[in-house]
This record gives sequence, C-alpha cells and structure tokens, in this order.
Amino acid sequence: MKAAASTKLVYDFAEGSREMRELLGGKGANVAEMTRVLGADRVPAGFTITTEACVAYMQGDREFPDGLDEQVAEALARLEEQAGKTLGDAEDPLLVSVRSGARESMPGMLDTILNLGLNDESVEGLGGDRFAWDSYRRFVQMFGNVCRGIPGERYEDLISEVGRDLDADGLQALTERFKRVFQDETGEEFPNDPREQLKQAIRAVFDSWLGDRAVSYRRINHIPDEWGTAVNVQQMVFGNRGERSCSGVAFSRDEVTGEPKPSGDFLVNAQGEDVVSGVRTPRDLPEMKDVMPDAYDELREILSTLEQHYRDMQDTEFTVEEGRLYMLQTRSAKRPAQAAVRFAVDAVEEGLLDKPEAIATIDADRLDALLHPHFKRGAKFDVLAEGVPASPGAAKGAIVFTAADAVAAAAEGRDVVLVRPFTEADDVAGFHAAKGILTAEGGKASHAALVARGMGKPCVAGAGTLQVDLKAKTVTVEDTTLSEGDLIAIDGSAGVVTADDVELEEADVSEHFETVLGWADELRDLGVRANADTPHDAAKAREFGAEGIGLCRTEHMFMAEDRQPKMRAMIMAESEDDRRKALDALLPLQQQDFEGLFEEMSGLPVTIRLLDPPLHEFLPSAEDLAAELEHARNEGSPDVGELEHTLDRVHSLSETNPMLGTRGVRLGVLHPEVYEMQVRAIVRGALAVEAPPQVEIMIPLVAYEKELELMRELVERVIDEEGGEHLDLKIGTMIELPRACFVADRIADHADFFSFGTNDLTQTALGFSRDDVEGRFLTRYMERKVLDRSPFETIDAPGVGWLVRLAAWVGRESHPGLKLGICGEHGGDPESIHFFQLAGLDYVSCSPYRVPIARVAAAQAALG
Ligand code: PEP
Ligand code: MG
Repeated sequence: MKAAASTKLVYDFAEGSREMRELLGGKGANVAEMTRVLGADRVPAGFTITTEACVAYMQGDREFPDGLDEQVAEALARLEEQAGKTLGDAEDPLLVSVRSGARESMPGMLDTILNLGLNDESVEGLGGDRFAWDSYRRFVQMFGNVCRGIPGERYEDLISEVGRDLDADGLQALTERFKRVFQDETGEEFPNDPREQLKQAIRAVFDSWLGDRAVSYRRINHIPDEWGTAVNVQQMVFGNRGERSCSGVAFSRDEVTGEPKPSGDFLVNAQGEDVVSGVRTPRDLPEMKDVMPDAYDELREILSTLEQHYRDMQDTEFTVEEGRLYMLQTRSAKRPAQAAVRFAVDAVEEGLLDKPEAIATIDADRLDALLHPHFKRGAKFDVLAEGVPASPGAAKGAIVFTAADAVAAAAEGRDVVLVRPFTEADDVAGFHAAKGILTAEGGKASHAALVARGMGKPCVAGAGTLQVDLKAKTVTVEDTTLSEGDLIAIDGSAGVVTADDVELEEADVSEHFETVLGWADELRDLGVRANADTPHDAAKAREFGAEGIGLCRTEHMFMAEDRQPKMRAMIMAESEDDRRKALDALLPLQQQDFEGLFEEMSGLPVTIRLLDPPLHEFLPSAEDLAAELEHARNEGSPDVGELEHTLDRVHSLSETNPMLGTRGVRLGVLHPEVYEMQVRAIVRGALAVEAPPQVEIMIPLVAYEKELELMRELVERVIDEEGGEHLDLKIGTMIELPRACFVADRIADHADFFSFGTNDLTQTALGFSRDDVEGRFLTRYMERKVLDRSPFETIDAPGVGWLVRLAAWVGRESHPGLKLGICGEHGGDPESIHFFQLAGLDYVSCSPYRVPIARVAAAQAALG
C-alpha cells in the first residue's frame, strides 16, 4: 500500500506540536514544541518525515511512498532558505543530522547520522581544517555503518592504527581510507551527492525500525511493530568546534535519584554521539559550571522552563557551539522507580503538579525496583572495582560476556551478570535476561544505562579498572582475573563491584515512597489484599500495606517437611477410617497455622481457600519408587510388599498437566472429611485468638451451583458443631472455570463472595496448560504476533476478561452486594488492575511484594 500522493508526509518543526506525537514521533513532536517554547534561535531548524511515511515504506516493500521525494526536496529548500546555506555547498555548506524518532522513545535502538552534506567540496567550505576533516571522517564512518551495515570494527581498527590525536592532514588521510573501506565493502563509491546521501540516510532510518535490536526492544516493551518511526532532519550545530564547544545530555533533575538538581554528562569539543556511545568517558554536568559558566546558567534556566512547560522531568540533548547554547531535543525523562517517586513528591511540594497528576507520572510496574535487594548493610566485602551507579538495585550471579550467553543462562534458570567492555545497546534481550549489567566504560546517559534503568535492572557502568577480554572470556582488575561462570556482585545504587559472595538484603520502603503510597490510598477505589499462606508472608504483606489476605492456599501449609508424611498418609488412605485418622493428626497443625495467620491479620479479612491440591505434588515420584522397589527386590528386602503397594497407589492417583482432575471442590465432594477438618481448624483457630479477623472460607474450582450448595451445607454444619455461629464468617467461591462464569447468577445464590482465580480461568478459557505454556509455544506466538505478552501475566481482556465481566455482572444481578475480588497472578499487574477497576471488582489480591505496586496502579486506575 502506498500513501496517497496528496498525503502530507513532511512537516517543518515550526508546523508541529507535542499533540502530534503519533504522526511525528516523540522526538519530532517535542522538537517542534520546544521550538515554540524556546524560540527558533535556540533550536536548530529542521523537518520531520512522518511515521505514516515509514509505515507506507514498510508496506510497500521498502519503496518510498509516492510524493515523499518531492516533499523532502521542498522541505529542504525551505530549510536552506531559513539557514541561508545550501546542503553540501562548497563555500558555506548546510549540514544536517538525520535521526529516528518513534512514538515512544527507544534509546539507542534506532539509527542516527550526523554531518550529512559533507563531501570532497563542502569539507573545504566548512573550513578544510582539523574540525572540518574530523566532521567528514565521522560522517563517512557513520554513513557506512548505519546506511550500509559496515561493521564498526572496520573503522575502529584503522583508528587504533593511527591513534586519535590526528591533525587535519592525518584526518584527511583517514577519511580517504574510510572511503576505501566503503568501496571494498559495498562495491560502490562513497556517495558525493548530498541529496543522494540524504535519501539513503532516510531509508536507513526506516530500515533500522525493522532491525533485530529494535524488534527485540519492542517485544520487551510491548511497542507495536506497526507504529513505524519518524525521521528528523535538523540543521547541524557543532559541539566539536574547539574548547568553547561541547555536547551533552542534561536531565532537569538527577536521573537516578530524582533529587531536584540538574544532572547529566557532557564532553568538551565533542559531538553528541561521543557522549552516549561510551567511547570517551564523559564529565558530570555540574562541572560545566567551571568550564562554560554562561552556557551552564542558560542551560539551567532552559531546563526549568521546559519542566514547567511539560510539567514533567525532562531529558534533553544540547550542544554549545563556540559559546552559544542550542537545544536539540527534549523529552520526558525515563527514570528509575526511585527517581519517579522522588519527582512525584517534590513536584507536588513545588506546586508543579497536584497529587493525581503526580501519581500518573509513575510507572507502577517499575516500582518493583524499590522493593529489590541491595547489599546487606554493614556487609564486609572487598571492592573489586567502582563505577558509575547507573541503575539502582543489587544483583549477583555468574559472569557471562555475551547477550546470547545471558539469554541461554536465564532459560536454564541461572542468575547471571552481563559483563561488557563498553555500553552497547545491541542486544536488549541479554539485558532482559541478566540479573544485572556491568560495563567498563560509559556513563549514566549511555544507552546501556538508559535501557537498564528502563527495565529496572541494576547496572554499574564505566568501571574503568575492568579489563574485559571478550575472546578469552575473562575480566581482569589488577591482579585478579575472573572467568566466565565466576561469581560477581554489583550494586547499581552505589556503583560498586565485588567478587565476594556478598549477602543481598531486601529493600525497605523509603519516606518518599511512603508518601506516594499514602496518596495512592486516598485516591484508589479498589482494595488491595495479599496472597499469603504463612504468618511470615502475612506480616510482610501488612508491612507493604495489604488490607487483608485475599488468598491463603492451604495446600502450601502441608508442604513443610514435618507435614508432608501426614499429608501423604491422608492422600494415600484407602478407607474413610484411615483418612480420618490421618486428618486427626493434621487438625492441630492446621489450627496452629490459622491462629498464626489470624494473629497477624487481626480485624482484617482473611480468605482461606479449602484444599485445592495438585495431589501428585505430595506423593513420591513413581520413577524413584520403581527404582527403590527394584533395589529392594534385588536385595530380597522385606519392604518389597509395602513398596509395591505404594507404587500402585501412586499410579492410580497420578494425573498429568494441566491437572484438572481431582482438584478443588471435587476433592471436597469425594472426601468431605478433608474439608470438615479444615473448617474445624479454621473455627477453632478463630475462637482461639484475641481479635479474630473476618474469615472468608473459599471453595475452589466450582463449576456447578450444586457443588457450592453441598459445600456450604458442610461448612455451616461444622461451624455449628464448633460453636462458631457468632464469628464473622463468610462462605464464598473462586470463579476460575468458564462454566462458573456463565452460571455465575446461580452460583451467587450460594455465595457471600466471589474471588476470580484468573490463573485457572486463563488456563481453562484458553485451553493453555499454565505449567507448560512458557517454554513451548509462547515465544513463537509472540514472534508471530498471535499474542503480544503472556496471558498469564496480563489478563486477556477481550477473552478471559469478558468472562470476568460477565460473571461480575450476572453474579451481582442475582445477589446485589456480592463481594468481588481477584486473586490470580494478574492481581499484581498494573494493566490488569486497570481492567479489574473497569470490571467493577472490589479488590485485587497479589503476592506481598506486588502490594505497593498494586496500590499505585489501583490509584491510577481510579483516575482513569
Ligand atoms: C487461580 O487459579 O487464579 C488461583 C489463584 O489459584 P491457583 O493459582 O492456586 O490455582
Ligand atoms: Mg486456581
């Protein structure tokens, strides 16, 4: 498909605004907006080729859409007129940068070309001096690399040969050699015509949207392939024009901690690429005050203006050319959780935002990082190296040196730290797979650091004493050499590296985070409970602000070593008599468990689910038993008979995934004595504690209303027998089967509450076995775009979500005031929480560590 010839595919910066993000991409929209706010003399002029042009290019077999060539030529003519210079002019050339800019920023994932317009003539027009030849040399290198895929090493090897300290003649010679590399690699001459250069550069940016690293990044960040990228063509200004020039990246507040002071990196006499590529280690922004005080003051002022205008923390790129400051780009800063929380609190205090607006600036999913471990306070360890604290949190694991090795290790469930010489964003998948990232070069604004922070991965960058040998797969610091597989630990908040097995400690919630959580609680409608099975988990959950327990999986209480044999005896019992004996042994233990839980949660609701056991988890493995039996037979052991019997029983009880056999209420119907024992223990436990909670007894895996009716009778009878009528006890069910959703009105007749078990509901609605889906077809399904994420992480809103809405609706229709909660894994997923708010549920329940995330996400959901 081609864009209609009349479609406007190119916009001058002066025509755009921040509302046009979808069409102009984030960078294009922001640069246009910034031109309005700061004035045209602060922002170099240019134009944006729309994302629609990119989409038409992708759909049209990589052909430029109709009209694009002409519209680019017209925009270029306008730019030339405004600049008073002509692209590639031999006297005084206009030079441009060509940069990608997708709707969501994808740091380092797409391509950029600088100094376009230089050729053998215009290099003289630029001055023909060292600066001019250095600019030309960079352009030839970048053009070959980005437009024609010539490996960076081809150029870096030549630079290593001659060194970086070249004069104009040296640079001219190097440029000639670079052009020969281009010819060797492509069989073509380096394009001397600036308009041809521009055309190829635009094509390269479009193509970079389809490149592997951009595709990986989009998968991880759930960015649709169909968006495409815009292309920004902007007049060049030069940060490499001597000692009064510099390039840098500036954040309006500290990009790691969120403290209200500008931060970032800059390099004197350098171009922007030098700052982010990590080839030279940049200087801290505040040092600019000493080097270029006037430009620094102007920059501070501009950062504040931009922050006030956008009402958000900004991440900018700037260049000082011979003392004059230019702003090249601004965008809302991606920030780690720590900075997000700090900014929200400060912004409200400063009157920049109100509370709902401040809460909305936080990416709830990323708050996870604040709950991540750090090095145990006071822990003794030898510091192997120090670097830039580029992304907070601590990580420990075996060393790997390539992204591919990180991915492979993660697939095997091993914890690894990815160690690299310098910051490359080449394989995002490796970042995702590793527990942490360590680099020898680069700063906080390097691509690797940005990506790591975005993912909430701990990262130490620029640890300059590390010598990483990728061939030998070793890393050396002075006389210590570590090899692949050796342990390493990093603290991305402190910038510290050690080879010691230092203990990691859980995070505690900071004062700023507490403030944000307090606001979230004021703003949200949804309740937040925790899934907890032990007093320890319950205590943690309360600490994190859970308002009760939404799911206590009682089968987990029997996993402990002293319980397993008793539980096994109960399962293996062949007569009711034997089963009752085994249950009698379990009853006091179970009662103890409940008492512990009730004490922790005094006064709050506690939902206890009666047994829903994957029975085989409690049984010995059939293979082990068979081996033992064979051994016993060979030895002539007296245990043979017993073992044979056990093996028979194990065979008769065995079930295979997706384990939809004798689970949940089916067990209660088959062996009511099991549920009787549990209810007895619950009632006795509640009677035993001083301040009993509001106990909710929950029947799992119900499909038929009759199942619940039978169980309700049983539960009420036992409550009576135990003298618990006066207790605050409710009886309800999990809704985790499609049939239960369809007949929720009938089931609601017997229920005081519903709790959606979206794990099983997803499994049964989709027919995906929840235990097998990950390793098998899910990845391919995502690659083929059948799915964009696991339905076990984020609720499948149109499918499974529809069942939830249906059940909530008909359930409440037949039983007004029916309490509705959700306790599947989705209860801690921000996007799913938005959905549950819309579906009208009363609360979500999730693992204790997700509780703070759920509180913030629930507030955001309430704000819409
Ligand atoms: C569920 O199915 O969503 C649920 C919470 O129960 P479980 O994960 O224990 O099956
Ligand atoms: Mg379930």
